[in-house]
Amino acid sequence: MTLAQKPGKIDDLTAPLDEVFGFHAFRPNQEEIIRAILDRRDIFAVMPTGGGKSLCYQLPSHLLGGTCIVISPLISLMKDQVDAVRDNGIHAEYFNSSLNNLQRSAVLRRLSSGELDLLYVAPERFAMGSFISILKGVPISLFAVDEAHCISEWGHDFRPDYLSLSLIVEHFADVPVAAFTATATKRVQRDIIDRLALRDPHTVRASFDRPNLFYEVADKDDVNRLILLFLHNRRDESGIIYRTTRADVEGTASYLASHDVKVRPYHAGLDSETRKKNQDAFNRDEINVIVATIAFGMGIDKSNVRFVVHGDLPKNIESYYQETGRAGRDGEPAHCLLFFGRGDTSTIRYFINQMEDETQQSIATEKLNQMVNFAVPNTCRRRRLLSYFGERFEKDNCGTCDVCTSDAEQVDAATEAQIVMSAILRTGQRFGAAHVADVVTGANTKKIRELRHNEIKTYGAGKDKDKRFWRRIIDDLLAQKCLIQTEGQYPVLQVTPHGREVLFGRAEFYVRKRAETPSHAVSTVVDDYNRELFERLRSVRARLAGQQNVPPFVVFSDRTLHEMACYFPVTPDEMRRITGVGEMKLQRYSDDFLPVIRAFVESDPQSQSSAPPLPEPRAPRQTKSPAGKTFNTTWQMLKDGLSRSQIAERRGLTTGTVSTHIERLILDGRDIELDRHVEPAKQTEIERLFKRLGMDSLREIVEASDGTVGYEEVRIVRAAMQANSDRK
Ligand code: ADP
Ligand code: ZN
Repeated sequence: MTLAQKPGKIDDLTAPLDEVFGFHAFRPNQEEIIRAILDRRDIFAVMPTGGGKSLCYQLPSHLLGGTCIVISPLISLMKDQVDAVRDNGIHAEYFNSSLNNLQRSAVLRRLSSGELDLLYVAPERFAMGSFISILKGVPISLFAVDEAHCISEWGHDFRPDYLSLSLIVEHFADVPVAAFTATATKRVQRDIIDRLALRDPHTVRASFDRPNLFYEVADKDDVNRLILLFLHNRRDESGIIYRTTRADVEGTASYLASHDVKVRPYHAGLDSETRKKNQDAFNRDEINVIVATIAFGMGIDKSNVRFVVHGDLPKNIESYYQETGRAGRDGEPAHCLLFFGRGDTSTIRYFINQMEDETQQSIATEKLNQMVNFAVPNTCRRRRLLSYFGERFEKDNCGTCDVCTSDAEQVDAATEAQIVMSAILRTGQRFGAAHVADVVTGANTKKIRELRHNEIKTYGAGKDKDKRFWRRIIDDLLAQKCLIQTEGQYPVLQVTPHGREVLFGRAEFYVRKRAETPSHAVSTVVDDYNRELFERLRSVRARLAGQQNVPPFVVFSDRTLHEMACYFPVTPDEMRRITGVGEMKLQRYSDDFLPVIRAFVESDPQSQSSAPPLPEPRAPRQTKSPAGKTFNTTWQMLKDGLSRSQIAERRGLTTGTVSTHIERLILDGRDIELDRHVEPAKQTEIERLFKRLGMDSLREIVEASDGTVGYEEVRIVRAAMQANSDRK
């Protein structure tokens, strides 16, 4: 089948971004990727979780004629993804094994009639010749491959189903293919490009920095109590707590539940129904906290996760990055707290030592050491994370990690450093941290007696402090490169030349004074919004989400509600200027949210008068020529007798957009033949409902009609009614 048409050159992509999604600016790399797609280039993009990959194909799907096919591995997520884009007025469906036959044929009918902007499918479809032939019968604008690393055996989520995606380029030589992933080493990158047979793809590797995430590491000691303390000011926020073992998951969950936290457990030992129930409850904000093993994650698309706590040390930085990456996808501040205790290292080492393959063993050890190096104090956490991914972080102070924001004093610890290093040298640099700490504190162990380390000069020199204190000094010495730790199964400590400088008093040694409990230094929420109003808006959101059976963040993100509770929009025009409020959502939801804000402002006028000014209105609303031009083009086509869907097809717009053009043209007084766009019977029905329910809410009308009429028709009829009454 012939190709979807290419739209004319679009100069300003922020206009459709704002109109459809209500976003005022692109995130890094989005615009560049979208432009390349519009130029029909293949794409290979690595962007961190929460970086906004979906928008990179969703926006083009709306701008290009034809259907964009999205290949996504997680059937369980498809419904939510489709609900979310539909809410923005994009025509989307999904096609997978969860549909019954009737539903499938309905989707295929919509696909063939060219109504769909987006179709989500599972990869296994591509192994079926029948599906490929169906696709060949429709104009396809783009293939978007989500989680593209699943095609590589070198990645960590290899799925054999993905291999059949190599058929895409073979069968659809003219359609661009865009591959997206959040994790790809260079090796996996090459694999993806080869297997999908991408043609000179436009390649983007985005920064792995997540500026809205705050990283903190705290000492692990009575971890359940510390977690409860951390939750104290976060009662209404959503968060994930990771624990390594199922027993610890259950333990932490019941401890928190007994302290009135709305919490549920999640681990592979629960039956799949319970797991699903708990995950849904979390997704829908019915509970705040989920305590989980790493089994929990792939299915998480929830954008308002405000914190991720690790009760135990992750095995490596990749896992840590991926798990913390589930926080703050909506771009709002979120907190990542890791509890670090030395004991965890031994547990992980124990498992590593069970590995059969020696290479695997040494890789795992190396990765564990890097994880530990992240957790020991004194250097910016962000810089360490990024350097792990081969990125340099240029700023001295990231401003959003415990180290950079700590105003804890630096204390002189040269004496303590000297005690430790002297013990290391006197025992021949042949022992690990545990033994060295034993020597310094004067412990009476068998090993010490046998080696006669109780006879050396530094034995017991630090007995006024406990072992944990000395372990931390050792960590600090390692972090500041006074010591190195050898590799292998039994790592030993050795003093570096710099360490000798400290030992002989020729260099200084300071450590950060440690807080007893997690800092809470930076609250996870921006402070300048009205909490009370936010709570009211949240309950409106919960009600709407419940009615539609979708998770709340599909209606509006936390960010959007924060802005409403900060700027107090009271008219639709003001509402439109809030991030996340596109045209479709404005129509559907402004009637639910505006009255709540108005009532709030009336009861407390002070609040609004002290609010900051709203962001500038979006550009295309002004009567600038491009907008005028686009209406005129539609007008010409209408006069040529084309239907809404024909215009949409030719112009590479959705019929929804064309309908807004028609609405505007009618209101401008142009003579539009209404019967061609809305059947007369429907017109009568819509008019009747408007008269009964008032002219303000399109949604009420659509709902009251029991699905017999759609937004587009309601919109057009309303414009005609208004234009008529103006004329009278
Ligand atoms: P990814 O798939 O890369 O993990 P998503 O596509 O799920 O990320 O996007 C994460 C969140 O960011 C979503 O809630 C999305 O609506 C939001 N988002 C995407 N692009 C923008 C943007 N330009 N401005 C504001 N929010 C955005
Ligand atoms: Zn920092």
